[in-house]
Amino acid sequence: MDLYEYQARELLRKAGIPVPDGEVADTPEAAQRIARRLGGTVVVKAQVHAGGRGKAGGVKLAASPEEAKSHAARILGMEIKQHVVRRVLVTPAEEIAAEAYAAVLVDRATQRPVLMVSGEGGIDIEEVARTRPQAIRRLSVDPRYGLLSHQAYGLAEFLYSDPGLLSQAADILTRLYEFFLSAGASLAEINPLIVTSAGEVKAIDAKVSLDDNALFRNPDFEKLRDPAAEPEAEMRARNAGLSYVKMTGSVGCCVNGAGLAMATMDLIKYYGGEPANFLDIGGSSNPDKVVAALEIITSDPSVRVILFNIFGGITRCDDVANGIVEATQRTKLDRPIVIRLTGTNEAEAIVILEKAGFTAGRSMDAAVMKAVELAGAA
Ligand code: GDP
Ligand code: MN
Repeated sequence: MDLYEYQARELLRKAGIPVPDGEVADTPEAAQRIARRLGGTVVVKAQVHAGGRGKAGGVKLAASPEEAKSHAARILGMEIKQHVVRRVLVTPAEEIAAEAYAAVLVDRATQRPVLMVSGEGGIDIEEVARTRPQAIRRLSVDPRYGLLSHQAYGLAEFLYSDPGLLSQAADILTRLYEFFLSAGASLAEINPLIVTSAGEVKAIDAKVSLDDNALFRNPDFEKLRDPAAEPEAEMRARNAGLSYVKMTGSVGCCVNGAGLAMATMDLIKYYGGEPANFLDIGGSSNPDKVVAALEIITSDPSVRVILFNIFGGITRCDDVANGIVEATQRTKLDRPIVIRLTGTNEAEAIVILEKAGFTAGRSMDAAVMKAVELAGAA
């Protein structure tokens, strides 16, 4: 789950990281009122789940409340990377002496949280990583010991030489790491981390992604979710208790179990196709889930064929078969369907499906090959 900058800032502030004041507005008039309250020059910032807002014209300095109002009028409703701006953050403008980058993320290679810092902040970090990798310092943290004080100082030294700045930065990095762990984040990024003209180190932009699988530890975070900003299919899937991730291919997959879903996607690729989604209907036997899954898959116009791959264990194949029959009675299928099921009650399942005019097989290879062929032919 991605958070907006204003939400991320609030969480970082609670974690003790210096963040400037600010408030969100959804009308130009409200932006003007906030600017008046703050006084002085302010920054009006588009709130969307996307970076690069500055480049897109979504971050503007305003010297007066009237100017804040006119910037807000222009930014609200703007589209940035396919996200419509519905709110702006109005925050006091800082005098920036230097911009750096600091982040904690999950590193798959080391299977650990990794801290990343760079003296080249403010700009696209992927670009820095590509063109000047030596400008980035990484530290993978051993979760048994956490981030040790000398490590935080070591990273801070990569950014600053002044001892005052260095200890502020070390403190911020330590707090950022603690926040990352306790929040169950998959990313906590500050870009830019600035030095003000008064010599203070502050976060003026924040990006936080929370790991959905860790949300149970912080149920309060659920209210940070903005349903309007989520892909509709993913919301429907979550409400139906399915895990669904949309992808870019044309073979729509409906599988029970995350491991089998991954294997199915691998096999689709192996036979030259591209999966349209990851969809795990879970281990339970519930025809309603199958109905919901089919509706979600067929609502994606890039799906050219639907592939069911069911390994019956706790999930009973006859329940899945009933779900398929029921779902296709409710809405006529306008795309071919390939069904593979094996395991618990497979014989009953095949009878149910054949009665309803479907064919089903037991071989995973054969089913995937057939689905890839149909996706290509359509
Ligand atoms: P992003 O483009 O989505 O990453 O948005 P940021 O919040 O990082 O803002 C982009 C850039 O706008 C920053 O790198 C700064 O150069 C500039 N900026 C943002 N806030 C301020 C501010 O308070 N004062 C000044 N002078 N520049 C700012
Ligand atoms: Mn930024």
